[in-house]
Amino acid sequence: MLDVSVDGVPVPPSADRPLRVAVVGAGPAGIYAAEALTRQDAVPVAVDLVDRLPSPFGLVRYGIAPDHPKMRAIRDTLHRTLDDPLVRFVGNVEIGADITLDELRRHVDAVIYTYGAALDRHLGIEGEDLPGSLAATEFVAWYTGHPDADRARVEAALTGARSVVVVGVGNVALDVARVLARTADELETTDMPQHVLDALAATPVEEITVLGRRGPAQATFTTQELKELGELEAATVLVDPAALVVDAETEANADRNVTRNLAVLRGWADHTPEPGRTRLTLRFCARPVRILGEDRVSGVEIERTAVDADGRAVGTGELEVLAADLVVRSVGYRGTPLPGLPVDERSGTVSHEAGRVLRDGSHSRGEYAAGWIKRGPSGVVGTNKHDARETVASLLADVAEGRLCTGGPVGDLVQELQDRGAEPVLLDDWRAIDAAEVALGATRGRARTTLHEREALLAAVRAAAARTR
Ligand code: NAP
Repeated sequence: MLDVSVDGVPVPPSADRPLRVAVVGAGPAGIYAAEALTRQDAVPVAVDLVDRLPSPFGLVRYGIAPDHPKMRAIRDTLHRTLDDPLVRFVGNVEIGADITLDELRRHVDAVIYTYGAALDRHLGIEGEDLPGSLAATEFVAWYTGHPDADRARVEAALTGARSVVVVGVGNVALDVARVLARTADELETTDMPQHVLDALAATPVEEITVLGRRGPAQATFTTQELKELGELEAATVLVDPAALVVDAETEANADRNVTRNLAVLRGWADHTPEPGRTRLTLRFCARPVRILGEDRVSGVEIERTAVDADGRAVGTGELEVLAADLVVRSVGYRGTPLPGLPVDERSGTVSHEAGRVLRDGSHSRGEYAAGWIKRGPSGVVGTNKHDARETVASLLADVAEGRLCTGGPVGDLVQELQDRGAEPVLLDDWRAIDAAEVALGATRGRARTTLHEREALLAAVRAAAARTR
């Protein structure tokens, strides 16, 4: 437990002894939390922005698809917070391995958990673990160059894949389908690692079926992302016009996104397959019941569904088999516990009230949460700004009301980590990685190429340090 007083007297934060906050997870939620802390004058603060990886930006780097450079450019805006002198980026630090949560808490007055929701959800059907069946999280980690990606597993699944089934109709499913449908030329200028570009170019995809267990009016993808499928250089989007017949009540009550999605989908209803082009079929009211295959995926058994009055998918008992060499399930993410921090098993989120972490139903002093680990995997990057502000407002209210004061002197986190033999990556080190990626990209006329191995990231740091010695 934190010491909130010196000799029993509460000590408010001051310029000499600011409120020290560790933000765990340097993705958008963590960076927006750091921004909210530094953009207020009421409480002097010093923020350590801790990340397991040597690089900041979380899903902006390892989630947003590399063929969306404009969206990825938000990192330039986020970088302004990293550059703030009140914020210290401390990467390559794993809570539970390099330092325990209790030890971390002894170095700060408060912790904000913003480490996201990294695990995939399962379908819970037979055949799900066959070679050739991947989670979208695995595929996305691979194509964005995440150091923990299982390259051999993903590339084995892609080898020879002509027919692909993507399960789910959210934006991640569309990212997966679009990346698979793109030509080598379309991906050439992205920051994907070269081995990813080579493997995608060698994958002979002819047919991609994106499977929604409910109707088009219940799909969670957004219109801009949907429209992009229609702009692919070498793929034709196919959709059965009969699937786009929506009952009058649903149509009348549809929100703007759904109305626009339906209009886009109806614009494709007269498409027919074109020789030489990838067929990208959006198939609604069908759910996977079994993934077929002996040594690897050979197909997916699906059941037609209907949407009931409560908007749920109910099986009709009508079965069909889709041939498939590769299945990618894109059915949502879930958060995992941090050693020392429980998360709710079902929701995959931390229990909280307005961002204040609850342990055994009570506010746990000095612990807060923001982003996906707080609210679950929903919304766009900007959603985290509002979310982080709510959490920081709770934290600042706790300071104002004397529930969270600065304690006595605390040791320096980075010094402590270095004394333990850990290798924390600080802002200048990250700049060295950044420069190495830009230099690598330039060798092939690209703006950047992502370094995908942890050792390569750390080697860039060490080389820069050796140059300045
Ligand atoms: P999502 O939008 O929640 O989509 C999950 C999909 O999986 C839904 O279609 C869901 O269908 C389906 N599903 C869940 N369980 C299933 C099951 N057992 N069988 C069949 N289908 C199942 O989540 P996401 O696509 O992972 O995206 C996460 C968040 O990131 C979203 O907020 C998304 O908008 C955001 N994101 C944004 C962008 C962008 O802006 N470009 C890109 C990527 C991600 P039901 O609706 O029937 O449950």
